Amino acid sequence: MTPDILTGTEEDIKELVDGLHFGEKVDRAKELLAWAFDKFGDKAVVANSLGKDSMVVWDLAVKVNPEVKGFIVTTVYKPAETITYMNDLVALYPDNLKIYKSDVNVGDLYATDPDACCKALKVEPVRQAVEEMNVECWITGLRCTEGRTRTDFREIEERDHGLIKLNPILLFHEREIWQYMAINSVKVNPLYAQGYRSLGCAPCTKISTGDNERAGRWIGTSKCGGECGIHTQPLKAISTVNVAAIREENIHPEAVTAGEITGDDIVDR
Ligand code: SF4
Repeated sequence: MTPDILTGTEEDIKELVDGLHFGEKVDRAKELLAWAFDKFGDKAVVANSLGKDSMVVWDLAVKVNPEVKGFIVTTVYKPAETITYMNDLVALYPDNLKIYKSDVNVGDLYATDPDACCKALKVEPVRQAVEEMNVECWITGLRCTEGRTRTDFREIEERDHGLIKLNPILLFHEREIWQYMAINSVKVNPLYAQGYRSLGCAPCTKISTGDNERAGRWIGTSKCGGECGIHTQPLKAISTVNVAAIREENIHPEAVTAGEITGDDIVDR
């Protein structure tokens, strides 16, 4: 079956988020990952932020393809707990995971211009990883129920010029992430035990309550509950992937896909 690249509406996503049970979502995520590894080989690479969602995707990816490659972007502002957690994870997967970190000194730019700070410390290293690792499909832990900025994503996307983005756990609820981690004994970043629900750099991440998982991010700024930019800004300028051909292929029969989003559509939310 050939998926229709334009039929993945927000309603389709909502129906699947509430209509599929946990086991079906896990199977679906594995099928999507298997498709990506089959199609892109070692150019299908997992982006790991060390948060709970990334860790579920990493665990799924390793189960589907033990040789999978991944990259972690860290910053000078990451909490000590996250750095220790990262080092422990990389020690477990020394041949699979690569760390990227900007050495640009941005001072306290996070306080005055967090968008610029994120661009320098997060978006640029991701671009570097995409280029150096020759990525044609990057795999993320993005979930559509995670916050106000994440409702219009699809499982397979081309957000910028030839770089395919796979979001295999897009349909997971927050509880299903914890369900997966418990069932599969995935090690948890200790910051969650303190009450954090979404993890980032120390100056921009607070413990929060309420429904919005990302409410603790960038509190007190216009960026509150928003994005660092890696999901909203272009990561690759030159196309090396024949996206038109992918649209003609058989992929996951029910995968909700989206076509290329032009530069006009890419906004930092
Ligand atoms: S989360 Fe905060 S400290 Fe980290 S890169 Fe973004 S603005 Fe800078």
